[in-house]
Parts: sequence; C-alpha cells; structure tokens
Amino acid sequence: MKKPIHIIFLGPPGCGKGTQAQKLINEFGFVQLSTGDMLRAAINSGSKIGKHAKSAIDKGNLVSDDIVIGIVRDRIFNAECAGGYMLDGFPRTLAQADKLDQILSEHHQKIDVVIRLCVPDDLVLRRIAGRRFHLASGRSYNIEFNPPLIEGKDDITGEQLVQREDDNEEIVQSRLNTYHEQTEPLVRFYEEKGILTAIDGTRDPEEIYSKIKQTLNQVPA
Ligand code: AMP
Repeated sequence: MKKPIHIIFLGPPGCGKGTQAQKLINEFGFVQLSTGDMLRAAINSGSKIGKHAKSAIDKGNLVSDDIVIGIVRDRIFNAECAGGYMLDGFPRTLAQADKLDQILSEHHQKIDVVIRLCVPDDLVLRRIAGRRFHLASGRSYNIEFNPPLIEGKDDITGEQLVQREDDNEEIVQSRLNTYHEQTEPLVRFYEEKGILTAIDGTRDPEEIYSKIKQTLNQVPA
C-alpha cells in the first residue's frame, strides 16, 4: 500500500474502530485521527475547546460541528498525514460529511474508502462495559474479550489502565441513540458515492482485519 489512502471508520461506539485502526498503525504506520481522542486531549489541557466539549461528552451528546471540523482541519493537511490517514469517529453528522468533502476537494483530496463495522446494540453495551484504556498510548483492552496480560495493566508499559467516564451504561445508551439518529444516515451518504464497505464487526478481530486489508487492496490507484 504505497499510495496515500484516506479512510473513514464508521460504526457505533465499541464497534472495534480503535482496535482495527491500531492494527493498521502497527503494520503500515498509518496515521489515526480520532476526534474523540483529540477532544479528550483538549479537555485535559484545559483549553477553551475542551471546556465546550466536556459538557456534551459527559452527556453522550455530540460536540458542535464547527468545533470538530476545526480540529480535524487543523490536522489532516499536516505533513504527518501526507502518507494518508484514518478518520476514527469523524464525520458523525451529515453536515460534517458535507464539510469534509468540501475542504478535501479544495485540497484536491478525497476519501477513498469508508469501512463500516456493524455491531448490534446489545453487543456494544457488553463490550463497552469491559473496555479499559492505556491513556498515554490509546491502547485499548476488554476485560471479557481481549484482557491485558496482567489485570489492570498495559501490556507494553505496565502502567495502570482506566475506564472512560463516558463508558458508563447510561451515557453509552445515549451515545448509541445519538449514533442511530445522527451518524447512521452517513451509511446511505457513502453508499451512494460507492465507497462504503460493510463488515460484520461481531467476527473475530483478525478475520475483520483481513477483510479490511482486502478492501484497502481493492481501492483503485
Ligand atoms: P469517541 O471517542 O469517538 O467515542 O468520542 C467520544 C465523544 O466525543 C462522543 O460521544 C462525542 O461527544 C464527542 N465526539 C467525538 N467525535 C465527534 C464528532 N465527530 N462530532 C461530534 N462529537 C464528537
């Protein structure tokens, strides 16, 4: 995969976007742009954007389109993304998708492929309840499906794993509702452009990964 490739990962929270993105980073050195990670970094830094984002994130609502479009625009044309990138958690509304198309076309770029990971709500709820993160690297684990070697510790650094505050059941339900109402319409949007591939996200992560690689190999040069 030599040519820069621009990928969107689409799916509900807990569908495995982060896990699959991490595999592509490890094998190909792809750059992952996760708006959720960027917003959490803004919250931790105490910035104005972070303050705006926090109240929406805490309720499981979406942060305003203008803010997320701004933070994505600040990154996607940087040198680090010259070899391509994976958008994880963006776009999440039709307005974001339209704006993304517009800013990419101004830079003679386009999204090459949208990978949709399909996972039913009941499995999302089970997966998220067991999610644990290593904050510094973004590595994720699941106490039920993908446990760390030592309970509560990151495999590589041995540092403490944490649970995200918005991973509690009530907020996850609200994030799922938000997904169905505001993000799912993007499936049709990208299907109509002929660039969407849907993959069963309930399968084994390695099987999903090999399907993703097959899909990327079929992207026209
Ligand atoms: P994530 O880590 O992708 O699950 O995102 C965590 C939270 O950040 C979401 O529940 C939203 O509140 C917010 N967020 C992340 N990406 C976006 C986006 N593209 N548009 C609006 N809000 C977002």
